Amino acid sequence: MNHPFNLHNELASIQASNLYRHRQVLDSPQGIEIESAGKCYLNFSSNDYLGLANHPDLVAAFRTAIDHYGIGSGAAHLVCGHSAPHHALEEELADWVGRERALLFSTGYVANLGVISAWLSKTDAIFEDRLNHASLLDGGLLSGARFQRFQHADCNDLQRKLDKSTAHRKLIVTDGVFSMDGDLAPLQGLSTCAQHSDAWLMVDDAHGIGVLGAKGQGSLQVAGLDQSQAPVLMGTLGKALGTFGAFVAGSEELIEFLIQRARTYIYTTAMPAAVAEASRVSLRLVQTDDWRRQKLVGLVTRFQQGLTQLGIQPVNSTTPIQPILLGDSQRAMEVSMGLKQRGFWVTAMRPPTVAKGTARLRVTFSASHQDSHVDRLLDALDQLL
Ligand SMILES: *Cc1c(COP(=O)(O)O)cnc(C)c1O
Repeated sequence: MNHPFNLHNELASIQASNLYRHRQVLDSPQGIEIESAGKCYLNFSSNDYLGLANHPDLVAAFRTAIDHYGIGSGAAHLVCGHSAPHHALEEELADWVGRERALLFSTGYVANLGVISAWLSKTDAIFEDRLNHASLLDGGLLSGARFQRFQHADCNDLQRKLDKSTAHRKLIVTDGVFSMDGDLAPLQGLSTCAQHSDAWLMVDDAHGIGVLGAKGQGSLQVAGLDQSQAPVLMGTLGKALGTFGAFVAGSEELIEFLIQRARTYIYTTAMPAAVAEASRVSLRLVQTDDWRRQKLVGLVTRFQQGLTQLGIQPVNSTTPIQPILLGDSQRAMEVSMGLKQRGFWVTAMRPPTVAKGTARLRVTFSASHQDSHVDRLLDALDQLL
């Protein structure tokens, strides 16, 4: 029983603290209506914010590309896996976000690991918002740089920490939109701190790209920060763009450096070319279909007004991420379960994904939702809270 690899006790302790996780099997495409174990649910948990994951134009582009390129890319980008669709997508992404170049990665998680660890080492320092995504924290730890967390969205705290640092190079890293809270990073303030302290600013815009900005260029466009003010932008393709993968955008030199040194770029198989083709079509829709972003704004406003009427204080978020804070993990699970029984899919987020004592329902909206869906969710919440 006491063998060091015996995991029984660890699993039991996860269970005892109400933090055990189970996967649920879907039998339908991603969308606002999903099916699992023979039942249908109205989905308020997806990151498919613009409703593009199962869009017929993307599906058609994917099919056509598979007929030409097959399924697997066969190798890493630097070997023989970098095909015309990858290359074209990189150019179009760079154009869109107003950076010199962009580089595709297989996922956002590995993009963050790759960029940070390629760049920083022991003599450097990294400054991260306390609520940054796990992949940014992991990238910082992997790099071996001196790791410092600043208070959430607090430029003064950051500046104090920068002032004390004697590190060779300093990198400030933040989510553009915080994934569990939906609020925006104070990007202008962070950029000012960076300029004061000769630091660089890296923004992970996984939840802002596609959703914010005139043509969906994300939170950096909203904040008006160009490549010199925010040299590294990481965006994902698996959320608002509805496909899979990620990109890093920045200067010519940054991208060339990553091609030479980012291990999670070099030592991994390129995404299928058909995914890149589907992403190119998605990127066009993201730019032209401003109505999708407008629709989200309307849904969020309606939801917040509804919550207020129910006596529930909405969170400080204008994005489609609208969490309802419950605090206790067990309570969050119970409400999530109650919603499930009523036909709503709303995932409870518990530690360690969120801080201890801040368990929540992470409600997200999609441009495919209708006002009536919001109203039905509000009715169910009224019964359960
Ligand atoms: C989802 C997410 C990632 C990871 O992106 P994947 O492509 O899913 O690996 C990175 N950062 C943030 C803030 C995210 O929300």
